[in-house]
Amino acid sequence: MAKITAFEVGYCTHIGCMALKGAGLRVCKFPSRAWLLEVGDRRWLWDTGYASWFEHYTRRGVFQIYRQVTPVCFDPNESLARQLYARGMVGGDIDAIILSHFHADHVAGLRDFPQVACICSGEGWAQVRSLRGFAALRHAFVPGLFPEDFESSLRFIESFDALTLPAALAPFTHGYVLPDSNGQVILVPLPGHAAGHIGAFVLTDDGWTLLAADAAWSPTSYRELRGPSRLAHLVMSDPPAWYRTLEQLNRLWQNGVVDIRLCHEGDL
Ligand SMILES: [Zn+2]
Repeated sequence: MAKITAFEVGYCTHIGCMALKGAGLRVCKFPSRAWLLEVGDRRWLWDTGYASWFEHYTRRGVFQIYRQVTPVCFDPNESLARQLYARGMVGGDIDAIILSHFHADHVAGLRDFPQVACICSGEGWAQVRSLRGFAALRHAFVPGLFPEDFESSLRFIESFDALTLPAALAPFTHGYVLPDSNGQVILVPLPGHAAGHIGAFVLTDDGWTLLAADAAWSPTSYRELRGPSRLAHLVMSDPPAWYRTLEQLNRLWQNGVVDIRLCHEGDL
């Protein structure tokens, strides 16, 4: 069965109510997680977390606003590439990096893995790929973080085999099988947070896990169907879709058979 290893790769800080209505003005830490997924001798990364590239590409121009809005704490020794290296792995050991979406805190480490192909939502990539300046900033899309040859080896989930999900994963019904994963990693659209936002159902020895990326910022959000402050709607690509996805997570959580993991759940 698939194996999941979590990495914390830097964090940003925010007042709690920006992520969860009613959480107050306390400043909370939101770690940026990446995961290593393994099936047999195949390995994929799920996002990259922060990297020094974030600091570099938000130093000037409109993107300075990004780092002012989400102050980031990142120690270069904590980069995903270095954490993998400490476990005896280099980029060449990774089959592909799956991008849950294109926000800078999920893709900042791409330049640390120059030879590794990426997988993402084709529909989402089409929406962001040409954005520059304020339009890009509005989507938390920092073009410089994407290597020049990023598109040359890019694969889109829509090109993978579609399947009907097992009943245990209701209310989710359809997904795309990650090639070479023996059906143990299934990619699913989780619309609302950002263009092309996806999650992954992963079948481990302990059963199904859903890597739900930024579909919520706190488990309380899907347990109590509680959204963030209205201000946070500004950074969502489609707030009504976000609430529909949150309801789906709520039903999945109520069924009690899937372990749901979020990228940023922290001390909220
Ligand atoms: Zn995001």
